[in-house]
Amino acid sequence: MHTRDDATAPARRFIPDALEVTDTEWLARVYRRLHDRPVPDAEELERLILDRDELEGVVQEAKARAYVAMTADTANEEAAGRYRTIVQEVLPLVEREDFRLKRKILDADPVHDLGPEWSVLLRELRADVALYREENVALHAEEAELAQRYEQISGAQEAEFRGERMPLPRLYAFLEETDRPTREEAWRARSEVLLEDAGALDALFDEMFAVRVRIAENAGYPDYRAYRFAELKRFDYGPEETLALHDAIERHVVPWVVADQERSREMLGLETLRPWDLAVDPAGRPPLRPFADAGELADGAARTFRHLDDELGGFFDAMRRRQLLDLESRARKAPTGYMVTLADIKAPFIFMNAVGTARDVRTLLHEGGHAFNYFLGRAQPVHAYRFPKIEFAEVGSMAMELLALPHLGAFYEGDELDRVREDQLRAALRLLPSLAMTDAFQHWVYTTDPVPDAEARRMKWAELEERFRPGIDWSDIRRYRDIGWQFFHIFNHPFYVIEYAIAQIASLGIWLNALEDEAAAVHAYKEALALGGSRPLPEIFEAAGVPFRFDEEAVREVVEGVAGKMER
Ligand SMILES: [Zn+2]
Repeated sequence: MHTRDDATAPARRFIPDALEVTDTEWLARVYRRLHDRPVPDAEELERLILDRDELEGVVQEAKARAYVAMTADTANEEAAGRYRTIVQEVLPLVEREDFRLKRKILDADPVHDLGPEWSVLLRELRADVALYREENVALHAEEAELAQRYEQISGAQEAEFRGERMPLPRLYAFLEETDRPTREEAWRARSEVLLEDAGALDALFDEMFAVRVRIAENAGYPDYRAYRFAELKRFDYGPEETLALHDAIERHVVPWVVADQERSREMLGLETLRPWDLAVDPAGRPPLRPFADAGELADGAARTFRHLDDELGGFFDAMRRRQLLDLESRARKAPTGYMVTLADIKAPFIFMNAVGTARDVRTLLHEGGHAFNYFLGRAQPVHAYRFPKIEFAEVGSMAMELLALPHLGAFYEGDELDRVREDQLRAALRLLPSLAMTDAFQHWVYTTDPVPDAEARRMKWAELEERFRPGIDWSDIRRYRDIGWQFFHIFNHPFYVIEYAIAQIASLGIWLNALEDEAAAVHAYKEALALGGSRPLPEIFEAAGVPFRFDEEAVREVVEGVAGKMER
């Protein structure tokens, strides 16, 4: 799969083609050449920046491929071993050597002669250098090893359902069934598996927490939250703004969701709404099953993207041709969906667990949006500029879920299209409280004294459920609810969650723009994606036709705008 001989993969200029990043002596030699190189003028400094970047791309791709292989089969020892070698041996060396290289770039006299196009990169390098501590290199490797353990635990999770063992993503389809006992049985089968692993995951989180606290201390931060905000390079906002966003979502989105659920409950004729009643169609229609297998899913997505925009359709076709998609759910496959960039061959790769639902179509549109962002941004001169920071990256994906809505004829017909549109908008608004509570939980867990133990974490999650997702009847099954904080992002990507809320608000804004003038909205969307990460966030949002704003007023406006377009 995905080899360098494709015409779209530009040749390297500095790193030899025959290489193996796990050969750490070779890698150290390449770094030495870069360390030793004189930088008398801006031209040589630019060359150093580009060569360092090429090396970063080679390392990044090796890691990405190893990650894909590991998550494609979490029981594959060889794949796990290679990934472990990369995070335990290669990345620590890269962290140390790359720190020296970044300092060399920043300290070089000609840095003052570089053009303004480099200012965003230099700001990021300065942030990295300020955060670096030699004693954190081993701790980062330890953290990565713990994250790998999370992948293995969650990848091995299988439920027993009606005499069949199945990976958890497959159970989701049963939660959409109109037969309530079927939904309940599927929900309980899944929850039981999660409960069985809850103790192991509690212990794992304790270990991760301890490592993270030490990392933050070593770097001189008062707590891990402050460290992580710096590490994520959140230049444009801080903890205060995100806490205010939680409040705004509580005030303006939660009441809408509660009212919407209440209508569903009435339509379903239920006394109370239980957690297995949230994915079923309130009007009692059978679940949408838009495709039968991964081939049909890819065919439908290809037609959808082509219908929306010729160029984007062409990108997706290229991904299929080059086998850059792994779509169907399988045993032992990690239960996640992601797009990862292969920085060396300059191509994106999509991974997901399709089982035939409308939600799978949304996931592929989402990851497709990420992939298009990379295709459009890859002409940028350096890796750091080819893809935006998360806050906008999730606009590339979430806005695509919405922009594609009028073009889903390959999957749905007639009334189904209206139904899918309603479902999508409902899901978009419902997601906001979940994101806020996941973020609020992490603010709390990393800044609370004394350090919260497993019991305290369960109590906090229960409290947040009441605050952000009220109106669901959890009687007799609170034990399942209270471990709801135990999922992928909280373990492996701490604090990477509020970006989705920021991006959702902007994406809904883009969708509202598209209702006025679709061609102009899609054009602006693509223009913004093509900027990659080369500009500060506010400029990229503006290029997409929406402000970089997530204060209370912005939240209220967008919720009112979207609710007004919904049919009920
Ligand atoms: Zn995404």
